[in-house]
Amino acid sequence: MKVTDCHAHLADARIWDARASWLADCRHHGLVGALANAAQFDEWPRMMQLSQEAPEILPALGIHPFWPEQWTAEAKATLERHLKANELAAIGEIGLDFWNGRGNQALQERAFAEQLQLAVQYGLPACIHNRKSWQEFFGILNELKISELRGYCHNYTGSRETARQILDKGLHISFCSPVTYPEAERLRRVSAFVPAERLLVETDAPDLPQMPYRGTFSYPWQTIGVVETLAAARGIAPEALAEQIVVNFQGLFKKWDGRDGRDGGDYFTHQAMSPSSPSSPLSL
Ligand SMILES: [Zn+2]
Repeated sequence: MKVTDCHAHLADARIWDARASWLADCRHHGLVGALANAAQFDEWPRMMQLSQEAPEILPALGIHPFWPEQWTAEAKATLERHLKANELAAIGEIGLDFWNGRGNQALQERAFAEQLQLAVQYGLPACIHNRKSWQEFFGILNELKISELRGYCHNYTGSRETARQILDKGLHISFCSPVTYPEAERLRRVSAFVPAERLLVETDAPDLPQMPYRGTFSYPWQTIGVVETLAAARGIAPEALAEQIVVNFQGLFKKWDGRDGRDGGDYFTHQAMSPSSPSSPLSL
């Protein structure tokens, strides 16, 4: 099966030193590409280093809503430097999270809005995290007059109605381990409502391991279990859905094309166009 992971914190300090080992596992399981997104500012240099070490790892930089105070003038200048150098595949993880209250709502909204505007300005997809904040999220899109947005909402666990609103904005929807949990029957029904061409899968590595791996870290190749669950909810073969998700992944992150003289398009074409699938709809 061709494997993608659109949302993995691969510069996380907890798994950083073991990266040679889990990268080898990912390749063994057929990883085509993983979007590695940052949460905090001090991860950014490691993120860029990793994307140089492993061409299938696409870098995204951003400040997560847990740490909006890290969205400083220095962070903004650093992000803009990488954007101008065309070194990023996406911006994120960004968003709004009011799970722990709204004490810093204004700060979160400012950090999110400014990073989102940079994503729009530079034509990059946004990796979006929302929790207890859908109304405010759509409110900010309206305020910024963003009627259509490239990117995805990560670890989706919401309703069918909210999924409809997300899709209407042009966004993809990504499912993570929670859709595999036994009690998640409602979420699996919601997942089947999302058009296949707008689906993505993720691990949120190193967190949210699936059932068999509970108590350990998660790694990008484990999206295989998510794809199997989504395919079962649709009554289709997992390999077919995996192929479609590869197309979705490559279509969304195709902006990534110029790190260190390497051409990401060539990499993807090489990876995705096997002789057995001459009609792969991939085009870059
Ligand atoms: Zn995340």
